[in-house]
Amino acid sequence: MFFPLTVNDFLDRAVTVYPDRVAVVDEPVQPAESWGEITYAEIGRRAKAQAANLDAMGVPVGGRVAIVSQNSARLLTSFFGVSGWGRVLVPVNFRLAVAEIRYIIEHSGAEVLMVDPDLRHLVDEIDCERIFVLGEDDDKIWGRGTGAAPRPWEGDESATATINYTSGTTARPKGVQLTHRNLWLNATTFGLHATMTDRDVYLHTLPMFHANGWGWPFTVTGMGGRHIVIRQIDGSEILRRVEKHGVTVMCAAPAVVTAVLDGAKTWEGEIPGRDKVRIIVAGAPPPTRTIERVRDELGWEFIQIYGLTETSPLLTMSRMREEWDDLDSTEQARRLGRAGAPTIGVRMMIDDLGEVLAQSNHNLASYWQNPEATADAQSGNWFHTGDGGTFEDGYITIADRKKDVIITGGENVSSIEVEDALASHPAVREVAVIGIPDEKWGELITALVVLDPDEDPVDGPGLIAHCREHLAGYKCPKKIEFRDELARTATGKLQKFKLRQPFWEGREKQIN
Ligand code: AMP
Repeated sequence: MFFPLTVNDFLDRAVTVYPDRVAVVDEPVQPAESWGEITYAEIGRRAKAQAANLDAMGVPVGGRVAIVSQNSARLLTSFFGVSGWGRVLVPVNFRLAVAEIRYIIEHSGAEVLMVDPDLRHLVDEIDCERIFVLGEDDDKIWGRGTGAAPRPWEGDESATATINYTSGTTARPKGVQLTHRNLWLNATTFGLHATMTDRDVYLHTLPMFHANGWGWPFTVTGMGGRHIVIRQIDGSEILRRVEKHGVTVMCAAPAVVTAVLDGAKTWEGEIPGRDKVRIIVAGAPPPTRTIERVRDELGWEFIQIYGLTETSPLLTMSRMREEWDDLDSTEQARRLGRAGAPTIGVRMMIDDLGEVLAQSNHNLASYWQNPEATADAQSGNWFHTGDGGTFEDGYITIADRKKDVIITGGENVSSIEVEDALASHPAVREVAVIGIPDEKWGELITALVVLDPDEDPVDGPGLIAHCREHLAGYKCPKKIEFRDELARTATGKLQKFKLRQPFWEGREKQIN
């Protein structure tokens, strides 16, 4: 027997087994009217209604439906209402600048766009056949309610379920095509390794647009857990939600972990979730000290994973194991500081140049309309991560980055993209953008700039303001240094490693 693996499997199970459970506690404070508490039966109804509305609009199977939104129950439901009936959800980073969002909508060929009310201005600035504002246009998106059944979709596990745009090594973001099979296997293996059960309460500290919230919208739903939606990241607020909802699991970039630790400093009384919460961290290597603090000061379990949008994302997991029980806590933290051991179904190796390669059934199908990038990334039938590392005793450690990407606050930024924006200023003659270690952001986007003496000079704030016209705020340099010249090779290529050297001197790893 063969049944295609589709995202509907997760929702179908929840609707069958846990119809009356509170499935989602929506963010109470948001510009659209909060959906409040909704059951799995109701999520099932709304997903169906969404599909029926897309039928009525004539959006075909395979048609792209984009959504630009902070975390919300509406976005969560769209993972099922759009992808579950064969259409392709394009969850877009809400922090991007208008020009970047425009590019993604055009490139993905989205025929429907849904935007958070905070981003209502996009209605006038983006060209798309149908644009809806979440909340205000709920009737048009979810309004058919209980009645209309969507056209059935027979299911195809090789069909693309989502396209997630990610800043890579190119000036333009690439659309990562993830299939139903990719999402299914990522979500189930993740749930297995993280021991997800129907008693778990999941706090959405991770943006759902980012690699589909690492697959947790599916994992939690399939297991009948509870979703707690949080819209804005604030350490103390995270602690309050943990206390209020009995949260047991969350995923976060190291910067969010630091925010929680900061929040704990002023928290009165016992930290909520002691011995109950597990926090799953990725995006950058967390410092050993941070791991120790999570375990000592919060009393939460620390789990690390490593992966990329392109790998759905789970490749490795680092979690306490029995053999380490008798080690002292610093040594345990040091071991947990490694990116982790490959999860079930993932094969990994390090090539001759030190690059981490991976094979798995949740590696991307391809980059949307970009066969060259797809072939490059998958040459030799291995996915090339662009990360440098080691593979010893069954564990991967990520030590540097081969790709020209800066990771700041858990988000990838292509250096080239920032260089492009800076170079478009008339006073800039040469520019190199690098990441330098930073306590708060992991890496701080730093621009080294040579000015053109023949043009009107510009200062640092002027250049940052110029970048803001083209790029999302988080991609703009936080620091600008003016130089007389930049180190280059004989052929004129920028020597970024030389430019980075003084900032990274004496560090074991070349990423932070
Ligand atoms: P993204 O596609 O935005 O999820 O970014 C993926 C990139 O984040 C990887 O290629 C790594 O460079 C970085 N990354 C993710 N997890 C880790 C980790 N545990 N340790 C070090 N770097 C990581």
